[in-house]
Amino acid sequence: MIPKSHPRYKSLMMREKLVEALDKGILAKAGLIAHGRGETFDYLIGEKTTDIALESIKAAAAMLVLAKNPIISVNGNTIALAIDEVVQLAKELNGKIEVNLFYRTKEREEAIKREFYKKFGEDIKFKKIEIHGIDDANYQIPNLDSLRGRISKEFFNADVVLVPLEDGDRTEALVKMGKKVIAIDLNPLSRTAQKATITIVDELTRTLPLLIKYVKEFKKTDKERLIKIIKEYDNKKNLKKMLLYINERLKKLGDDENFAI
Ligand code: ATP
Repeated sequence: MIPKSHPRYKSLMMREKLVEALDKGILAKAGLIAHGRGETFDYLIGEKTTDIALESIKAAAAMLVLAKNPIISVNGNTIALAIDEVVQLAKELNGKIEVNLFYRTKEREEAIKREFYKKFGEDIKFKKIEIHGIDDANYQIPNLDSLRGRISKEFFNADVVLVPLEDGDRTEALVKMGKKVIAIDLNPLSRTAQKATITIVDELTRTLPLLIKYVKEFKKTDKERLIKIIKEYDNKKNLKKMLLYINERLKKLGDDENFAI
């Protein structure tokens, strides 16, 4: 048991959740390493949602609300850390969730299906949410190897895809398919961050509650205003601002006489 008073309680709890997901067969071993890469960048960012990330979150919320057929794509890490928030967000939209696995095995597919049915069986039964990408992954993303490129018809037809923790190759392929891709990635230098239509440089479990909040708000907002938010958003500029923010933050810490390493 990790005591709540531990200074790194939240971070350690996230690790616990990932290890648990690994034991359940939901997460691939490499998912632990991917999380570690994210943790590093979170240190550099200061482990909080910056105003720069908030700008991306608002643009993403506007894009999701305006989408004709949005879908949320989840991998093992996302399920391990934020299955509740993913389902909550899906319910605010059209209920569609796609399971997309970098390391796709029958066992992992089954473990993930079990987790969704165990926690949200009623929602699935009453069609409040739909889980795609396991039994119906009969379509293929062009120019990707067969396993990583497997998708459902629903995903194939989606106009806006939220892909938390995606990899660069797939992101690029999805953009080439004409999709608007919203990524959540702590690393502003990753290929995913560079290729996505909107990149939210923030931690997944901090981002999702904010995304849900703005989606709820924007559903009641004038369409023209949402179009304006998206028009005024520039992903390249946002990523540059993030890099400068990290740069300045580290410089300030380096200049701080009282800073103790
Ligand atoms: P790319 O293929 O886009 O260049 P990569 O190879 O660096 O990416 P992957 O290993 O495919 O990255 O995926 C891990 C990515 O997910 C990392 O960039 C990491 O920053 C990010 N990440 C991991 N955990 C989280 C999290 N909890 N919240 C946000 N981002 C995260």
